Amino acid sequence: MSGKDMHARAPGAMIALSITALLCAADPVAVERERMVTEQIEGRGVRNPDVLRAMRATPRHLFIPAELRRMAYADHPLPIGYSATISQPYIVALMTELLAPGKQQSVLEIGTGSGYQAAILAQLAAQVYTVEIVPELAQSAARTLRELGYSNVTVRQGDGYKGWPEHAPFDGILVTAAPLEIPPALIAQLAKGGRLVAPVGPMGEQELIVIEKSAGGGITRRTAGAVAFVPMKHAP
Ligand code: SAH
Repeated sequence: MSGKDMHARAPGAMIALSITALLCAADPVAVERERMVTEQIEGRGVRNPDVLRAMRATPRHLFIPAELRRMAYADHPLPIGYSATISQPYIVALMTELLAPGKQQSVLEIGTGSGYQAAILAQLAAQVYTVEIVPELAQSAARTLRELGYSNVTVRQGDGYKGWPEHAPFDGILVTAAPLEIPPALIAQLAKGGRLVAPVGPMGEQELIVIEKSAGGGITRRTAGAVAFVPMKHAP
C-alpha cells in the first residue's frame, strides 16, 4: 500500500466520525437506545435480527409520559397511569422473540397499554390487532401509534379476555396482562400452527407460558421463566 493511499483514507474516517457525532447530537436518545439493545437485550441472549432491528428503530421514550421520559431506556418497567406499566425492554424483546411472528402474519395483543409492544410487533407482522380495557389508554395509544405512522395497528377498547373474534384466527397472540389461566377464547382464536405467549398466574407467582397449536389442532404448553405483570382484569 502506498503512502498516498493511506492518507486518502484519513479524511473519510474523519467524515464518518463527525457524522456519528452529529447524529448523536441530533438524537441523544439514540445513544441510550443503542446501549439498551446491546446491554439489556443482546447481552441477555435475544438474537432474532428482526426483533433487534425493531427495538433499535422504535422511539420508546415517545410511548412514556413526559415526566418519566428520561428513564425510558432504563432496565425496568415504568408506570403509564391507570395501574398499567410499559414492560421492561428486555421482556418486550423476549416475548416478541418467543412469538416470532412472520411478515405475512396477523397478531393479536391483549393489553395495549402505551402501544409500545404493538409498535414492535407492527414491524415484524403484517397486521396487529390490540385490545385495551382502559378507555383512556386505548385512546392515547391509538393516537401515539397513528402519529408515529404505525398504520398496520388497530386498537380497540374492550375486554381482551374474549379476544377479537371478528379478526380471528390469529397466527400469534401476545398477552401483556396476567390472567390466572389462559382465556379459552384466546386458544380458540389461535390459528393452526400458531403460537400464544402469555404471563399466567397470581401476583408474585407468574410464569411466561408459550402455547402452540399444531396443524392438527393439538395444543402443547411450555414455560419460559418467571415474570411480573399487572393482573388481567376479568369480569366474572
Ligand atoms: N403492552 C403494554 C403493557 C401493558 S400493561 C405496553 O407495551 O405498554 C397491561 C395492560 O393490560 C394495561 O394497560 C391494562 O389496562 C390492560 N388490561 C388488563 N386487563 C385487560 C383486559 N381484560 N383486556 C384488555 N386489556 C387489559
